[in-house]
Amino acid sequence: MICPYCGKEMEKGLIQSPQEIAWLKGDKKHMFGRAVLHEGSVILSQLSVMKGSAVTAYLCRDCKKVLIDYSDRISDYNAR
Ligand SMILES: [Zn+2]
Repeated sequence: MICPYCGKEMEKGLIQSPQEIAWLKGDKKHMFGRAVLHEGSVILSQLSVMKGSAVTAYLCRDCKKVLIDYSDRISDYNAR
């Protein structure tokens, strides 16, 4: 993955959580962050009580950006 800011190669890694990982619209933190409760949300990794959740993420240390490409379903470890 090429960093869209500086054009250098990004480092592949992952973000993991014991909870579902989802993007939620707006700037308000919610008591209950499940995507199903919030219109317009995007699930990045499905909740798995047994396995937890994880999604592939790319890091640019120079730009201090983390990029998640959710167009590819295998970015979600629980969809593999
Ligand atoms: Zn960069």
